[in-house]
Amino acid sequence: MYFLFSVTDILNIFFPPLCPICGVFMPSGWLNVRRKGLFGWSPLLPCDKCISLLSTPNQYICPRCGSMRQKFDFGKPNCKGCRHLYFSFKRAIVLGEYKGELRSIVLRMKTDKSGFYARTISTILLQERRNLLNENSFDLIVPTPSHRKRRWWRGVNSPDFIAKEISRSLNIPVAINAVKRTAETALQFHLSDQARLKNVAGAFSINPKMKKLLKGKRILLIDDILTTGATCNEITKILKKAGAKNITVCAIARAIGNFNKKKK
Ligand SMILES: [Zn+2]
Ligand SMILES: [Zn+2]
Repeated sequence: MYFLFSVTDILNIFFPPLCPICGVFMPSGWLNVRRKGLFGWSPLLPCDKCISLLSTPNQYICPRCGSMRQKFDFGKPNCKGCRHLYFSFKRAIVLGEYKGELRSIVLRMKTDKSGFYARTISTILLQERRNLLNENSFDLIVPTPSHRKRRWWRGVNSPDFIAKEISRSLNIPVAINAVKRTAETALQFHLSDQARLKNVAGAFSINPKMKKLLKGKRILLIDDILTTGATCNEITKILKKAGAKNITVCAIARAIGNFNKKKK
C-alpha cells in the first residue's frame, strides 16, 4: 500500500513552512525543523537566500579577530587589522558583518523579548559554523553580560538567548550569570582602540558562586556584536584568572573596529 502524501506534504498544507525572516514559502521547510517539538514555536531554518544574505563564508573571516579579511590576508593566521594586537582568547567565530540585513536583525534581537530573532539567528549560526561549533570542542557556554541598567532599558540581554539556544542544540551546559558587569561602561561605539581597552578594564567580575564551575573548562563566550574584541578580551582574562582552560569567542556580527577604519 502506498501513501499519496508524505508527512511533509500534509504538514505543508496545514502549517505552511514560511521563511521566518522574509516569509517566502519553503517546500521542504519541515524537513529543516531542528528541534524535536514540531508546531509553531519551533524556529525553522530560514530560506537559502536569507542565509546567504546574513552569513559570510568562513574563509573570508579572520579566525583571530573575526573581521572580514582582505584579499591579501588569505591563508595567513592573522588579518592585517589584528596583526599588531594581542587577544587572550583562542579564536573568534563570527556569522557575518554588522551591516545590511544582519545589522537589522541584530538590532531587532536587542529588544525582542520573545527571543524569536535570537533563536532564528542562532539556528543559522549553528548550521553555517557547524565544523567550528560542536559538542566536543567546549565544556561550558558563557554569555557576555550587560549592565543591569542597560538591560532594564532594553529589556533583554540577547547574548543570553543565543547562549541558551546553542546550549540546547549542542547539549553543552550554559552559565548565564557567571560573569557580572560591575561598572557601567560608557558606550563603546565612538571610542578608539586604546580608549576601549581602558573603558572595559575592571568592568567585569566573576560570580563567586560560579567559580568552581569554571575550573579547567574550555569556554565558548557568546556576544552579539564583536567590535574590537576589547570586551571579550577583558572577560577572557578574568575567566582565565578564575581557572578556565581556554576561551573561544563566538559572536553574531563583526562591526568594523576603528583600527580597520584608519587603514582604509
Ligand atoms: Zn527568507
Ligand atoms: Zn584579524
